[in-house]
Amino acid sequence: MSLISDVTTPLIAADPAGIQRADSVIQSLNLPGSGIAVQDPATGETIAHVPDHDVEAALEAVAKADKAGAAWAKSSLRQRADVLHAWYNKLVAHTEDLAHLISREMGKPLAEARGEVKYGTDFVRWYAEEAVRPAGNFRETPDGGASLLTRRSPVGLAVLITPWNFPLAMATRKIAPALAAGCPVVIKPATLTPLTTYFAVQLAIEAGVPEDLIQVITTSKSGAFSEAVLLDPRVRKVSFTGSTPVGRQLLNLASQNVLRSSMELGGNAPLIVFNDADLQRAVDGTFAAKLRNGGQSCIGANRIYVQDGIADDFVAALTERFARINVGSGLGTQTELGPLIDDRAVTQMQAYTDNAVALGATLLTGGHGYDSPGNFFAPTVLDHVTEDSDVAKSEIFGPIAAIQRFSTETEAITRANATEFGLAGYVFTENLDRALNVADRLETGIVGINQGVPSNAGAPFGGIKQSGLGREGSAEGLEEYENIRFYNIARRDTAQ
Ligand code: NAD
Repeated sequence: MSLISDVTTPLIAADPAGIQRADSVIQSLNLPGSGIAVQDPATGETIAHVPDHDVEAALEAVAKADKAGAAWAKSSLRQRADVLHAWYNKLVAHTEDLAHLISREMGKPLAEARGEVKYGTDFVRWYAEEAVRPAGNFRETPDGGASLLTRRSPVGLAVLITPWNFPLAMATRKIAPALAAGCPVVIKPATLTPLTTYFAVQLAIEAGVPEDLIQVITTSKSGAFSEAVLLDPRVRKVSFTGSTPVGRQLLNLASQNVLRSSMELGGNAPLIVFNDADLQRAVDGTFAAKLRNGGQSCIGANRIYVQDGIADDFVAALTERFARINVGSGLGTQTELGPLIDDRAVTQMQAYTDNAVALGATLLTGGHGYDSPGNFFAPTVLDHVTEDSDVAKSEIFGPIAAIQRFSTETEAITRANATEFGLAGYVFTENLDRALNVADRLETGIVGINQGVPSNAGAPFGGIKQSGLGREGSAEGLEEYENIRFYNIARRDTAQ
């Protein structure tokens, strides 16, 4: 195949009505006129400022949350569920406001932002339902003479640290289980995309969440924040989503206070397409697994392994799809791929492409940025990527499909597992035995079988190996915010 390139195609501009809608939400937040600047990644324009909280403000937030948490821990399960239901209804009623705000500050196309609102609000609904069903049980000691009652109680004040790529969903999938379990929270969203968290928390308060129970802290000094807050004795839990290096630093700090820790860290997802895959399904699934959020997803398909017999057809079909994507502002009505989060990411994509080509890969489409404001990089397909190239070894976090070829099932699995990460993997085959056998042997916490979007509020999302600890979503996600205790009740025969 020869290069399909469209460098000259103009980028799609934002719809002014969309900008206006997002900006009227921003105005309703009553943010300060200075502090940390938040930019629209499609234009570089500053759209708001959020407070740059210092350590003192963070510790004050801990104090307030801790105080409000005492009553919340004693609230009935039904009260918690009702408040979460009310928050869910508010969020859903503001779907369009949230979607426009997400697009404006993070850059994803509006249709995808609506998808994130659906996904993000699903966690609130799930935990509203789960709140009234805490696990617990009653058992007998094997040797008799006593009964055991196991109970769940809130773990205590939870510090939640979230990344920029899913500004709503990353917040709700931590806040909702924390509240359901009876915990107060201090949440620190990424400074690149803090506005959605501020808005979602404002809606939570309007819905009846006690005012001080959720504290939002934004700061440019995240190291100082975590050093102060994670060592505070009132804090009992840390839940972090972000990169593995930062996760390691936080685990170090957490160890000093022996905090319950949940870590959703980096990925390097393999996606394997076998000769017996349904070609259309495999192309659609790969397209979704690669380009959702512009490739800026921790479960994004990173290393695409295609078996020799289907490879030429698969590569041709995927390239054709990539080459006709509309690129532009997330708030453009026809946009299918938005900007990357910052200009460093654009530079990084160019470096990955150039390095891969220098090491022998074939560039089939894209491979370039744009001569225009904003952080745009063209949807890119690289074939015959070599294992020693940077794009094969790193978490790409951008719109580059990096394709390698393989011959046998064993070879594919060995190569897929040759990484310290273990978040998600994907398998495309119409053979059920092969699908399950390969899924069983992939060293990942999540496997998408014949589909590219495996996440769901009812699923226990999380990684193994260096991709993290703990699970988010599902009943397991609630346990992350609960202590398990038991009472050993001595029994004696009282019959006369
Ligand atoms: P990052 O680790 O740089 O930042 C994540 C968050 O941590 C941000 O809010 C940042 O301000 C904050 N942070 C950074 N240093 C900190 C410190 N010392 N103390 C406290 N907070 C600190 O990651 P990122 O670039 O924002 O996000 C991309 C990474 O996140 C990727 O590696 C991706 O795989 C990962 N991610 C993982 C999941 C998952 O569920 N496993 C989901 C989304 C993103």
